[in-house]
Amino acid sequence: MFGVIIFAKIEWGAACLQIIGLNLEEVEELVLKLGEPRYRARQLLDWVYKKGVDDFGQMSNLPALFRQRLEAHGLTGGSITKAGAEEAADGTKKYLFRLPDGFCVEAVYIPEQKRKTVCFSTQVGCAVGCTFCATGQQGFKRNLTAGEIVDQVRKIGLDQRTRISHAVAMGQGEPLANYAATIKALRLLNADYGLQMAARHLTVSTSGIVPAIYRLSDEELQINLALSLHATADQLRSALIPLNRTYPLAQVIQACRDYAAKTKRRVTLEYIMLAGVNDGDAALARLVDLAKGWLCHVNLIPYNPVPAAPYRPSPPRTRQRFLGFLQKHGVAASIRQERGAEVNAACGQLRQHLKL
Ligand code: SF4
Repeated sequence: MFGVIIFAKIEWGAACLQIIGLNLEEVEELVLKLGEPRYRARQLLDWVYKKGVDDFGQMSNLPALFRQRLEAHGLTGGSITKAGAEEAADGTKKYLFRLPDGFCVEAVYIPEQKRKTVCFSTQVGCAVGCTFCATGQQGFKRNLTAGEIVDQVRKIGLDQRTRISHAVAMGQGEPLANYAATIKALRLLNADYGLQMAARHLTVSTSGIVPAIYRLSDEELQINLALSLHATADQLRSALIPLNRTYPLAQVIQACRDYAAKTKRRVTLEYIMLAGVNDGDAALARLVDLAKGWLCHVNLIPYNPVPAAPYRPSPPRTRQRFLGFLQKHGVAASIRQERGAEVNAACGQLRQHLKL
């Protein structure tokens, strides 16, 4: 039997028994503790991130004794297993992944001609409780580890036999409420020894945790920020997104403006269009005021009905009216193409509908 390894830099616990989710420094620490030269770390990471191999037995350029020691210490390569998948006619595919403790999360693969995107989850459930969102109805269970986040992207790339070009933290959970794991995962997606995705192809979507937006702008990661705006007045926004009571609209917009000014990255303002709720003339005029004169882009999102939520989608002509008015007033805007609604893989609809 091998003894228990004590790690100085690795947060050691049940959730850290996987190689995926560890950075180069941590894997170097691991291999040195196991009596191997430092360069083994990159070999190990190469198998896990680049070749997608989880089984130490298949890592043929690693010494047999080293592989045995990894297994004897209870380590594994990956962290999640595919438990189900459902594909829409447009190729959008929703995956259900089982975590080591039995919880499940969903992620969505969205293929387009020039990009292959994965929308991944950062928490099991969500505590924010947005009233239009399927995940918000679930309540919060726990944060995902960095490995559980990165592995969604890696496993979907392997399943699709393609290179994932874009990734968005827009699945289940509020990414900035699981700040450390989300940032670590983004760094691993971007790292040369990781999945090598361009930082400018990575997006974090938040409901508006103001201190975390400022913290994110200090990370020196050229990632994109998206804000779930959805309303242009505090009363309505608080009704849709309860977090707005803690961080009201003026503070959230200022934080986004500061993010754009500091990072020079355009912030996306997500606006789910709800019939008779946020699609009137007054809301549109306020939206222009909020978005005009700084580096942002308004993304108008058709609402996908969720059971037990009292909302209906705005008609297409209303969306077009919003788009035209915003553009006429010099605000960059677009209407998000609906993808995957038939398998409940569209925005705000992720909540484990797949059968296990
Ligand atoms: S929209 Fe996002 S932040 Fe709001 S409840 Fe759903 S997952 Fe949480």
